[in-house]
Amino acid sequence: MATEIRPDIAELELPELEQALADLGHPRFHARQVYQWVHKRGVTDFALMSDLGRDLRAQLASQFAILTPRVERKERSSDGTTKLLLRMADGKLIESVYIPDTPAQTFCISTQVGCAMRCAFCLTGKMGIERNLTAGEIAGQVRVLARELGMLDARFNIVLMGMGEPLHNYEATMKALRMLADEHGVGLSPRRMTLSTVGVLPALERLATEPLMPNLAISLHSTTEDQRDMLVPINRKYGLKELLDACRRFPIKRRERITFEYVLLQDVNDTPEDARRLVRLLHGIRGKVNLLPLNEAAGIPFERPSDDRVNRFARILSEHGVTVSVRKSRGRDIRAACGQLITESSRTAAPGKRLAMLMGT
Ligand code: SAH
Repeated sequence: MATEIRPDIAELELPELEQALADLGHPRFHARQVYQWVHKRGVTDFALMSDLGRDLRAQLASQFAILTPRVERKERSSDGTTKLLLRMADGKLIESVYIPDTPAQTFCISTQVGCAMRCAFCLTGKMGIERNLTAGEIAGQVRVLARELGMLDARFNIVLMGMGEPLHNYEATMKALRMLADEHGVGLSPRRMTLSTVGVLPALERLATEPLMPNLAISLHSTTEDQRDMLVPINRKYGLKELLDACRRFPIKRRERITFEYVLLQDVNDTPEDARRLVRLLHGIRGKVNLLPLNEAAGIPFERPSDDRVNRFARILSEHGVTVSVRKSRGRDIRAACGQLITESSRTAAPGKRLAMLMGT
């Protein structure tokens, strides 16, 4: 893989880009044009930036690269869900997913190559973590999806629910969200962004103080400390009670609510007692529950409950005044559904190497 030594211009927020242009002796306003070309139009070649002078284009090309994830494979599910396998400049592979008509158009974005959280029912967790994505790579998935799907001018939402734990890659994730929100680029409203997390508490506390605040989804999955220790191992460090206390304190926007994701595992966490405990736990939190009947996969030692059991669970929540929805699984035929994103390079990584990577982060 060729190593690129020029810095990546897609890694710069607008103020950084303005500074870079000023350093090259150019007026700052050109930064907005460049930013729009890169982030809004998805251009990958300075020569195509037709409203910039030839000299500036040449100078930029000599100083900067425009790193853009490369589409390695594109798979379309029978339900229209489209999964892109993307190769980063260093050869690493990630997946990003387009989910149409939910009723919104949604891009599901990755924040890491693999994931260190090792949730017991998630395939991505089986990969371990290879590395964090950069802000440019996180935001880059949006450019590439929009371009590939002919949606450069369309309205869409993004959910950070692909590979990785966004709050385990805090700086790059927040930088990417700021880059996406910038009106000179995609101009994506924070109301159209959802960050999903297992609840890395110090990072969650920090998120609570951010000027740019995406919608929050918490991967809860369990109603007791012991069980959550097993299903979502980070619970051993940041427990359920502390997590829910942090949610109680979280500054939720007017008319918004925290989404609590709850994967339903047959005979594990899907009983009426679980549902009633969940009602009690969420008491006093402005939240809603999104039930995710397990997407089964080889190597995942749990079963998906029947629709009857899912409905029974949902009914108990709603009878107690908790707003509940059941996530319709999309793109399962192309393994694009929740918890099914996993990339080839890591499937073949030696277990020892994977362990080393896990311990290193
Ligand atoms: N790391 C973040 C982002 C991943 S979001 C987080 O955990 O929140 C993906 C959602 O799908 C999470 O709620 C995750 O727990 C859930 N999920 C993982 N594996 C799944 C599976 N096999 N079936 C259904 N949902 C799953």
